[in-house]
Amino acid sequence: MKRKLSNQFLRNFLVIFLLTILATALAFVLLSFASGLISGSLAKNQYPASAIIKKDYRQIDASAIVQSGGGVQVVDKEYRVVYSSGLDTIGKDRLTAEEFTTFLTESKSKPYHYDILYQPEGEFWLIVTFPTSIRLNFSLVYNKEAAAGDFMRAGWVITFVVLSYILLLGLFAFIYSRVTAASITVPLKKLCYGTKLLREGDYSARVDLRLRNEFAELQNTFNEMAARIEQEITLRKKSEEDRRRLILDISHDLKNPMASIQGYTELLMRKKGMTEPEGEEYLKVILNNSKRANRLLTELFELSQIDSPEFSLKLIKTDICEYIRQICGELVPQLEREGFRYEFDIMEESVFTLLDTNRFSRIIQNLANNVMQYNPQGTLVAVSLTVQNNQVVIDFSDDGIGIPAHLAVNIFNPFVRVDDSRNSKTGGSGLGLSIAKKIAEAHGGDLTLHPNENKGSTFRITIPVI
Ligand code: ADP
Repeated sequence: MKRKLSNQFLRNFLVIFLLTILATALAFVLLSFASGLISGSLAKNQYPASAIIKKDYRQIDASAIVQSGGGVQVVDKEYRVVYSSGLDTIGKDRLTAEEFTTFLTESKSKPYHYDILYQPEGEFWLIVTFPTSIRLNFSLVYNKEAAAGDFMRAGWVITFVVLSYILLLGLFAFIYSRVTAASITVPLKKLCYGTKLLREGDYSARVDLRLRNEFAELQNTFNEMAARIEQEITLRKKSEEDRRRLILDISHDLKNPMASIQGYTELLMRKKGMTEPEGEEYLKVILNNSKRANRLLTELFELSQIDSPEFSLKLIKTDICEYIRQICGELVPQLEREGFRYEFDIMEESVFTLLDTNRFSRIIQNLANNVMQYNPQGTLVAVSLTVQNNQVVIDFSDDGIGIPAHLAVNIFNPFVRVDDSRNSKTGGSGLGLSIAKKIAEAHGGDLTLHPNENKGSTFRITIPVI
């Protein structure tokens, strides 16, 4: 691709190169044509020395020349300037023969036009001078009477100069075409390389062109695209990992109760001469394990329901203070029965929020069950409700065993438990807090865990005020 593009550039520049040579030749033709056109109107051509010369130089009328910005001098045979009017480039009254010869020979290279005529009868030179406006001293002169050797030498030199000029022009065209092509092919190459890396799965690939032109825009778009792909791939990997972990955790957590149910049922069927209390003991184990499996499946179903796109809440404008007071009231008999202390601090005013009361009660119920399940009797349960920055803040605290700080975020992930032994006696499914957090989020709020200064834990539910 690079080669094709640079060749295209070379072809374009070769066309430019040929056009330049053509334009140069045309410029010379035009110059000589234009010079011929205007020569008649130039002052130097209007007043030649031959037009004013007289036998007696005293009769020469130089007024028109002087008026046109020129000058007239007469030099006699003794090289004395015997007459001078207007522009004088000789600058002396008398010249030596050598000075006059120098003046004559150098007159062509001076920025003046000299028309010099000798009057044999009056024995004087008439010099008409005009300042030259612009003059290009270039002319190709050909004389066939010149010596053949001279002609060859001069011809070679001219051919060499012309060829060098064309070669130089060609070389410049070639170098410039490569340089210009490189300004396109180099960034293109870098972008192609970046794209190739992306295609091969290196999503950290970025392009740095150090340019400010349209390529920089392309580079930014490429980098943004790569960053987005990288982000999405990371998210996908994470969600795949989460899914894999979830399936592993589910199968792991279901395996024990199911194996136990199967084992004890087989025992009941096969064991001969079993006593009644023994049979009842086995049935109790089967019942407990099926309850555990059932709870796990129910909670899993609830979690996947909340996660599904069809999930929606039945939101009703509710006075949350009144509602929380009512829920806390319902908790009291259970707390007292289990031997837990309690403390409620709910604002007196009415604060309205949009609530799906059935779902929302699940959060409080789960938090209360956890306190009772994981903490010793006598633990204090404190519920407070305040409004901060247009948010209702419900703090659900206990002064129990607490949750390690390093689990503050992860505890809301499915199947995460402080005691991860998956012992049926100590733990539940590890799904309760995940479900509670998702319900809070679906209400536009959140459920977070905050470390308690003394001991225990504080779960904070936030929900926007309407
Ligand atoms: P589970 O069904 O196991 O109760 P949760 O998601 O509700 O699942 O709780 C996750 C874990 O967090 C529990 O297994 C428990 O170890 C811990 N936990 C939750 N609440 C408390 C609490 N108030 N005090 C101590 N530990 C708690």
